[in-house]
Amino acid sequence: MTAVAAQPGAPPAPRTCPSAPAEAGATLIGMLGPDGRIHNLRTPLEVDADFLAAAATQGPPEARMRFAGRCVEGQCGQWTGHSCGVIERVLDRLASADGPQVAAELPPCTIRANCRWFSQSGGTACRACVLVVTDTRTLAAE
Ligand code: SF4
Repeated sequence: MTAVAAQPGAPPAPRTCPSAPAEAGATLIGMLGPDGRIHNLRTPLEVDADFLAAAATQGPPEARMRFAGRCVEGQCGQWTGHSCGVIERVLDRLASADGPQVAAELPPCTIRANCRWFSQSGGTACRACVLVVTDTRTLAAE
C-alpha cells in the first residue's frame, strides 16, 4: 500500500464530530452500556430516517447512542472560535477532584484518524470519551 502525503499548503481535512445529532446520514459509532459508559462499535453504521424513527420510540437516540458527523466548526454552538468546547468542558470537569474515573485504556474507535476531540486532546480525550452522553435530558430526569 502506498501512503498519500498531504499536499503542502492544502487545507486540513475536515474533522469528524464524535457527538453529533442523530440525523439521517450520521454514523452510529457507540452505544451506552448498563455500566453508564459508551461502548464503541467495531463497525460503524450509517443511519437513515427509518432507523432514527424506530430508535426514537424509546426516547431521544442521543441519550443512549453516539453518532458521528462532520464537524461544522463555527456553525455549531459548541465551537469556541478555535476548538470544540464540549471536550474541553468534559476534561475540565474530570480534572476536578470528584470527577468520574476515565477509561484506563484507549478505547477502540473507528473515527480516531479524523476525530475533532482526538485532534485537540489526543488520548486524554479518548479516555474521557466513554463518559460522554450527547443528550443528557433523559438521564437528568431519572
Ligand atoms: S475522542 Fe477518541 S474514542 Fe472518542 S470518538 Fe474521538 S477518537 Fe474516538
